Amino acid sequence: MQTIKSIATLLAEGKISSVELCQDYLARIAAHNPNLNAFVTVDAERTLAEARAADARRAAGQANLLTGVPIAHKDIFCAEGWLTTCGSKMLANFVSPYDAHVISQFKAAGMPTLGKTNMDEFAMGSSTETSYYGPTKNPWDVARVPGGSSGGSAAAVAARIAPAATGTDTGGSIRQPAALCGITGLKPTYGVVSRYGMIAFASSLDQGGPMATTAEDCALLLNVMAGFDARDSTSLERNQEDYARDLNKPLTGLRIGLPKEFFGAGLTGDTATAVQAAIEQFSKLGATTVEVSLPNSGLSVAAYYVIAPAEASSNLSRFDGVRYGYRTPDYADLTDMYEKSRAEGFGAEVKRRIMIGTYVLSHGYYDAYYLQAQKLRRLIANDFAQAYQQCDVILGPTAPTTAFKLGEKADDPVEMYLSDIYTIAVNLAGLPGMSLPCGFDRQGLPIGLQLIGDYFAEVRMLNVAHQYQLVTDWHQRTPGGF
Ligand code: GLN
Repeated sequence: MQTIKSIATLLAEGKISSVELCQDYLARIAAHNPNLNAFVTVDAERTLAEARAADARRAAGQANLLTGVPIAHKDIFCAEGWLTTCGSKMLANFVSPYDAHVISQFKAAGMPTLGKTNMDEFAMGSSTETSYYGPTKNPWDVARVPGGSSGGSAAAVAARIAPAATGTDTGGSIRQPAALCGITGLKPTYGVVSRYGMIAFASSLDQGGPMATTAEDCALLLNVMAGFDARDSTSLERNQEDYARDLNKPLTGLRIGLPKEFFGAGLTGDTATAVQAAIEQFSKLGATTVEVSLPNSGLSVAAYYVIAPAEASSNLSRFDGVRYGYRTPDYADLTDMYEKSRAEGFGAEVKRRIMIGTYVLSHGYYDAYYLQAQKLRRLIANDFAQAYQQCDVILGPTAPTTAFKLGEKADDPVEMYLSDIYTIAVNLAGLPGMSLPCGFDRQGLPIGLQLIGDYFAEVRMLNVAHQYQLVTDWHQRTPGGF
């Protein structure tokens, strides 16, 4: 298996060049992307130019650990010179004139961009089916969804057509697709990764993070992505962290919290069995378990679907056909131009969110919905604070089911929203969370295990995940045909 760690070693030993590596991955993308639709934009010349620069940097003795290792980026990150569509018709012609902070961090590390990956439109969705560019397919079964909204990134890593990718997570969009595609993904504590240049969906929830095959790779990628950025007013000024520093720490004495609300009637079948087996594995590694309670977690989906649309309705008001993006070709006057541009440029799910958001923020409804949801958000965060008095890390499933069929939930938004029932509370509280593979169901589809840390507990969470991956091989399994 090619982890970015192992690729970095090959590069350091001079056994392969970045150009050769990128050529290899670009060939794999060319062969498999028509089937998967994981990438929306590939620009081989641009990638190879970056690879040549990385090789030159190495030859000059100025390489960092990951210099020359290619990475794919979710198409929500503005990248200079690249088409940046956010999965929308609205931005179908938008070539970004600047780099998101995350992109400039990867450039500074010398990591070439392999391309931009598909996603639900404006990151609204759990299946990558709302993309204007068509759905991404799950490499484990191309009749199924890869999860979403970072489904393109997850499918690319799972099919090994990219060694790693970036994602963003507003309510589960890194962890849920990671689970459905059998890879490892991490959503950091809110404020750890700058949102500058990351197209905004719900600003108080959005957070970028790494998606890779292993926890160790996620740690190395987070070392590149994290850090203070004055251009994001919610970016946190903290000491430089080495997220890989404790990977090898034994788990003896680790207290794992099992929220009783996560292990109730909703958790059934193969997912329940796999999560239970993972708990036993952790016991063998020296951890103890304790039952904890998150009494308000059942209200997290409801609170989220007030808060996230409220913020989205405000954030998306900038797409008016004037400043940039899509403009309708035919219009009578200014108002008509706004209306038609937005009517034609946005898809159904985005419109639904804008309408809900506008409604819950409107005079007369603000107190009844938005304010109530904010109060719930506080209660949900308090539940976690209580739980962390008894444990070091919380464990549970990432998603209620394995990958579902394309189209299966497309007509039922509420059913789709419930895909994030185990992940959304983490965003509302601003906590770090990750998903890692912990088994397969009877149909051979991957199952994800979720770890939730206290604020800034990424190092501990990655340690827990890495120790698990040292004694299991779920993360090494690859889908047939890739
Ligand atoms: N599925 C959730 C939504 O549709 C979360 C999306 C995300 O995390 N970007 O809003």
